Amino acid sequence: MRCSKCRRPAILFQRYSGLHLCHDHFLADLESKAKRDIRTHRWIRPGDTLAIALSGGKDSSALLYFLHSLLSRRRDVDLLAITVDEGISGYRDTEPARRLAQDLGVPHITVSFRDWFGITVDEIVVKKGDSLSCSYCGVLRRHVLNAVAREEHADRLALGFNLDDEAQSVLMNVLRGDRDRLLRSTVPSQGVIPRIKPFSRIPEREVALYSYLTRGTIDLGRCPYSHSALRADVREMLNTYAWEHPGTRHALVNLGDELAGLGAGPGYTLHSCERCGEPCGEVCRSCQILSEVIHGM
Ligand SMILES: [Zn+2]
Ligand SMILES: [Zn+2]
Repeated sequence: MRCSKCRRPAILFQRYSGLHLCHDHFLADLESKAKRDIRTHRWIRPGDTLAIALSGGKDSSALLYFLHSLLSRRRDVDLLAITVDEGISGYRDTEPARRLAQDLGVPHITVSFRDWFGITVDEIVVKKGDSLSCSYCGVLRRHVLNAVAREEHADRLALGFNLDDEAQSVLMNVLRGDRDRLLRSTVPSQGVIPRIKPFSRIPEREVALYSYLTRGTIDLGRCPYSHSALRADVREMLNTYAWEHPGTRHALVNLGDELAGLGAGPGYTLHSCERCGEPCGEVCRSCQILSEVIHGM
């Protein structure tokens, strides 16, 4: 197959666009889509410090590489990578993240659940089993990332979520009938560092290919505790369905954005948690989880 744009050999076929793309045109296509999203949403402004949640996996590594190449010649935007060590033995290794940040010359901070909360995900699983460990881990990871990004005076927190992740999340909320989450306002609340997702319109396989072409590796490691039954089912269902109907993921993500827009307006008010000081709703989920796993309450 030949590239639809230059007739050189194609390395990728995009079912949703009907295009065959060569190495160079694939990189250009991915980067221009991510740049377009950044521009449309005004995600990066002069003077910003941009923090990136860098797990070291394929998505966040590709995102760091992309943002670094986009911004390294700009003197008015600073980059910073934050790696969270959840304490999952045999899985979370902070070394690849550290090395990547070092290679690119991006300042890098590692924080651990052990230091921050006094407990690791391994220990949470020992105490509470692993059925809720993903949701616990997710809440605590968001907490640390937000707190560290704020401490470092970051204006934005960039996350490596791709089109597949985002489409799955929208469909999961629909299947659960979770109206509140679908309408959750994207208007920033006080104390919450606004999140940006430059790869949210890029399919997972293209992010993986980008990661491979730009860095020579793809880390596809999966957390040993990750077995959210619903997400796995939705992922499989969407993959099968989108094969016949290639625009489905984009349609779902657009729908999610539109619904979040409807829920906008003043947004709901957050207050500061009495214990940890982080912005929270009625009850601080992090502190609730911690008292549950540490004190068994
Ligand atoms: Zn080409
Ligand atoms: Zn709290």
